[in-house]
Amino acid sequence: MVVAKSIKELKQYVNESILESGNKDSKNLLGFVPTMGALHRGHESLIKQSINDNKISVVSIFVNPTQFSPNEDLAKYPRPVEKDLQICKKLGVDLIFMPYSSEIYSRDEIGLNPSSGGYILEGFIRENHFSGVLRVVLKLFNLIRPNNAYFGQKDAQQLLLIQKMVDCFFLNINIIGMPIIRDDDNLAFSSRNIYLSELERKEALKIPKVIFHLQQRIEKDNIVDINILKSEAKEILHGMNIDYLEFIDSDLKFVNVARNCIFVLAVRVGGTRLLDNLWIK
Ligand code: AMP
Repeated sequence: MVVAKSIKELKQYVNESILESGNKDSKNLLGFVPTMGALHRGHESLIKQSINDNKISVVSIFVNPTQFSPNEDLAKYPRPVEKDLQICKKLGVDLIFMPYSSEIYSRDEIGLNPSSGGYILEGFIRENHFSGVLRVVLKLFNLIRPNNAYFGQKDAQQLLLIQKMVDCFFLNINIIGMPIIRDDDNLAFSSRNIYLSELERKEALKIPKVIFHLQQRIEKDNIVDINILKSEAKEILHGMNIDYLEFIDSDLKFVNVARNCIFVLAVRVGGTRLLDNLWIK
């Protein structure tokens, strides 16, 4: 496994690998998994899928400063680099791109605004968040030029906005959304789960409880009235600090009927924000 810290090293490796493969036009030559590190089983599922689908798999580990607001956890975001490298090596990743911030951002930057759906939910609470996400992802896409790029459905709004960016800028990249991976107690894996105390983790389990309750109500009981569903969800989350709890469609518009949409939820447990969601057919 090669670890590239500079754009020069990255390009050299990618170019050599493409030449070596002798198969420039393949649709499954290069797979890419962008991450901020602190890898867990959620990330692993994306990486495994990339390795399964592509000849070469690239994972980026970059805690992207432009997607954090000034009051957020950029400085204390977990960075267990050695452990991350071990995980990637074991899985069979070909290349890790772990750039310094100065490699990615110049002093005189051009901004990138998300489509209108980037200003609701996460984008409303975290000012400029999606502008930072799209900027870094576009830069990484241009540097790596993958055929396939893998993102988690866990960050539903992010996944939809990246798909919109790819469509809008005619990028020739196939975006693959991967299902949420949960821990044994059903809490969705997140790099931020390590911030939770034992008590907070217990409290946080109300979140997957809501997800599974709504799934049951929609799929088994055929309840699609979002007012009923929202009120039952709020009952389960009683006493918790809810940032939002909404139903959106793939165009990032709010919907009134729970069909062909996504239930998205953000809750604060202590100082930690946790996201979860349910993709509804
Ligand atoms: P992050 O390192 O948090 O930026 O996440 C990198 C990628 O992993 C994103 O596409 C996330 O949506 C995805 N991801 C994070 N947590 C999970 C999870 N529990 N299950 C599946 N994918 C996830």
